[in-house]
Order: sequence, then structure tokens, then C-alpha cells
Amino acid sequence: MKILLVEDELKLASSLEKGLRAEGFAVDKAEDGLRGLEMALGCRHDVVVLDVMLPYMDGFEVLARIRRERCKVPVILLTARTGLDDRVKGLDLGADDYLAKPFEFRELLARIRAISRRPPSEPQLILRLADLELNLGSHELRRAGQVIPLRTKEYSLMELFMRRKGLVLSRGMILDHVWASDTDYGDASNLVDVYVAQLRKKIDSGREQKLLHTLRGTGYVLREPS
Ligand code: CA
Repeated sequence: MKILLVEDELKLASSLEKGLRAEGFAVDKAEDGLRGLEMALGCRHDVVVLDVMLPYMDGFEVLARIRRERCKVPVILLTARTGLDDRVKGLDLGADDYLAKPFEFRELLARIRAISRRPPSEPQLILRLADLELNLGSHELRRAGQVIPLRTKEYSLMELFMRRKGLVLSRGMILDHVWASDTDYGDASNLVDVYVAQLRKKIDSGREQKLLHTLRGTGYVLREPS
């Protein structure tokens, strides 16, 4: 899951970013409303966490423009103000939830989780392929009923493969969805290869039916053998 965080208070932004990354999310950050809008309209994020009081363009305006462009990404508004008017305004403009500052990090986390599994974008909590099952609620992966422990990035990678099972994913696309865009990873495609190899070991090693396949020069695909 990839989150766009639009927040101009740098200390808060970096502590949220750190916390979210530790939970396995990829995080992109914007420090003002204009940049936030531009990034949100790329529609590459699963959730936008949007501060209301922002330089250049406030969060309400950013939200209104996101919705005007028919971008349906879930938005959580962060507001220092607790007035009912602001809450109503935010929800009217198409916010999915809001949090009044100051808030506990785990509360934000709970809202992000709730929103990202909310229907209709997330009617199904368990994704399946052959005897592989990924529970989006508990983050548990099972193969033939057996739990396979995953680390945070492995989980993100697994979720991406499960959501796009049968489709070939290029290294660039995997990198873009599982890791944040603004990070310098050096040899990035190597990073993807290393993680995919780890994941493959966990799900396919010792199994007759292999599910995670390499297409040389193209990328990877999760599918049942034909
Ligand atoms: Ca602010």
C-alpha cells in the first residue's frame, strides 16, 4: 500500500512517515497544497492523508480538486480545528474520514486500515490463488493452510502480486508500488529481484506447483502453472 502524506509541519510529517514505513507502507510526501494536488492526481496512491492548513492551497481546495478530477482515492483530512463546520465541509467535499490534531499515531493507522479495506474498493478481505490465501485484514499468508510469515515489504509485494494475479509486473512497476518514489535505492531493479527471490523461496520452495514465475527480460508474474 502506498500513502501520500500532505503535511507542511516537517517534524510531524517525518514522524508520521517513519511510523508508516515501519508498518510496511510506502510513503510519498508533499509539503504544500499545490505539490500535494499534483501528486494526488497521479492517482498512484491507495490513501491520501491531507492536512487542512497548508501553504499555497489549503486541504479543502486540494480535496475539492481531487474529486473534481474524479479521482476516487480515499482521503483522510488532518485538521487542527475541531469545529463541526470544518468536519462537515470536509466530508461534503468528499473526504472519507478526518482526524483532529493532536492525534495518536495508532489512531491514524486504524483509520488508514479501515478506509483501505472499505467497500466497494475492497469488498474482499481474502485474496486467493490456487492454495495460496492472503488475508488483507490480518496480513496473514497461507499456503495449503500453512501460515507463511512475511516481513513488511514482503507482505506489500505479495499483496501487489495477489491483486494483479495473472498479470506480468515489470521491475519498475513493482518498485513504484512497493517502494516510495522519492527514495534513492541505488540499483533499484536488483532490490526488486532480491525481494522477489525471498518471497519465492517462502511460497514455492519445496512445492510441486510453482506460482511465482520470472519472465526473462520482462518481469514477474504470479499465476497457476498452465
Ligand atoms: Ca498545516
